[in-house]
Amino acid sequence: MSQEPKKTYGGCHCGAIRYEATGEPLYVPYCHCASCRGTTGAPVVLFVNFKASAVQFIRGERKVYNSSPGVRRTFCQECGTPLSYEGDWGGNTIIEVYVSTFDDPAAFVPDRHVMYGERIPWFDVADQLPRYNGSSAGAQPDSYGLHGLS
Ligand SMILES: [Zn+2]
Ligand SMILES: [Zn+2]
Repeated sequence: MSQEPKKTYGGCHCGAIRYEATGEPLYVPYCHCASCRGTTGAPVVLFVNFKASAVQFIRGERKVYNSSPGVRRTFCQECGTPLSYEGDWGGNTIIEVYVSTFDDPAAFVPDRHVMYGERIPWFDVADQLPRYNGSSAGAQPDSYGLHGLS
């Protein structure tokens, strides 16, 4: 009874870039930071986080933009689709892939809100997921949605 690790696939809108992710993600956070908004044009993004070794880019060459020191954001230079946010944290290289670039984004269910303190004030969704005003690393949630703690 051996079980193959789950494989999921995705890529950019024009198809020039394709990737393969192996196994389950570490977590699936909405990010409300201003830097994610500015680099995507979206009011909030949803990432699927993996150790970098779990994601292989199998077609195309990505363009890299350093949005802040130590942070690599990658995108397709043909169609402009944002693909990932990458960096070295806690001794690991982490890649956060934008959920909407997966062929089947429904395969990943959000589990938290991070950088909630930077959200656009009118933004909310009808969930009770933990919300961290900053990073969730080693932190306790600041609230749990509209009807939560605060
Ligand atoms: Zn493309
Ligand atoms: Zn962000």
